[in-house]
Amino acid sequence: METYQSMPKVELHAHLNGSARDSTLLELARVLGEKGVIVFSDVEHVIMKSDRSLHEVFKLFDLIHILTTDHKIITRITKEVVEDFASENVVYLELRTTPKKNDSIGMTKCSYMEAVIEGLKAVTAVDVAFMTHDMDAGTGVDSVLLTDTCNGTARKKIYVRLLLSIDRRETTEAAMETVKLALELRHVGVVGIDLSGNPIVGEWTTFLPALKFAREQGLCITLHCGEVPNPTEIGSMLDFLPQRIGHACCFEEEEWKKLKSFNIPVEICLTSNIRTNTISSLDVHHFADLYKAKHPLTLCTDDVGVFSTSLSSEYKIAASAFGLGKRELFQLARNAVEFVFADDLVKSDLREIFNSAAKRLD
Ligand code: 5GP
Repeated sequence: METYQSMPKVELHAHLNGSARDSTLLELARVLGEKGVIVFSDVEHVIMKSDRSLHEVFKLFDLIHILTTDHKIITRITKEVVEDFASENVVYLELRTTPKKNDSIGMTKCSYMEAVIEGLKAVTAVDVAFMTHDMDAGTGVDSVLLTDTCNGTARKKIYVRLLLSIDRRETTEAAMETVKLALELRHVGVVGIDLSGNPIVGEWTTFLPALKFAREQGLCITLHCGEVPNPTEIGSMLDFLPQRIGHACCFEEEEWKKLKSFNIPVEICLTSNIRTNTISSLDVHHFADLYKAKHPLTLCTDDVGVFSTSLSSEYKIAASAFGLGKRELFQLARNAVEFVFADDLVKSDLREIFNSAAKRLD
């Protein structure tokens, strides 16, 4: 495990609320239990359950959202999630979250995102580069390990970029509001739009106008695609030519052909796919075929908290399930730099980080 932990890594598919620590969720549930808002013992069981169907996962998200409905809590979770990824040597994190509106507590989609950005600023354990001008602060090979001249200890640095998610329950207008917010927040590291949420809810055509607008305005797009069998939707999503897609579990022959001919990078979430039973076992996981075909792909966590995983664990699982060695996994992590939504300056800094780490590989 140490091998995968110490290797620099790029995380491109992580949902903020799905990445919250169990310990934090339990603490929040206890507080709401004491206030009589929920029954703690019922909720504790749901949080600690390890195997969940895709349907149960979305029920859990509804519960998590009850626990995290507060600006301060969003800030805390963001801070913890970034610290957790940085602690396992993730050098670039693209964190996605659905901006939420809650009139009863004066939360708007904008104030929700402000709380997320506060969380990025609140991180003290590592240096977080999330503003677009942060590149000016220090580029080059050593930017991931800045030396603190006061006490001589090395400080880690993590690049964070944000994707705003459109939930499949949303209307066209609500999706458009999210895209407009993303455009306003580009200077604080928002680089793209994700379409996620329960895959059996909503129609592709509902989100298309907002996604088209996002693209016209220069935002990058990633789509949750093929989590359930739906050939019409999968075909339309691929024809849209998103910069990346997530999952690609329920593809048929035609859809694989299309994906490969369009060369769209795939965010692979092994544990998530197995836990939710979207893929029956790693032996039949599409990672193997895509890897063999040299199709662009990247290993991701999806929801570290919900699926009790980490990016290092996903690398370890890939190593043992698909017989990959340390160098192959390092190369897999390195390849992901080419699929990030951040600008070329960040990309070239990341390339340097991997070049430097490659020299230390034995
Ligand atoms: P949030 O956007 O609240 O920060 O993160 C949780 C949300 O991400 C969930 O409510 C859901 O909309 C989305 N999400 C998390 N994991 C998955 C997944 O595996 N598939 C899909 N389609 N959506 C997910």
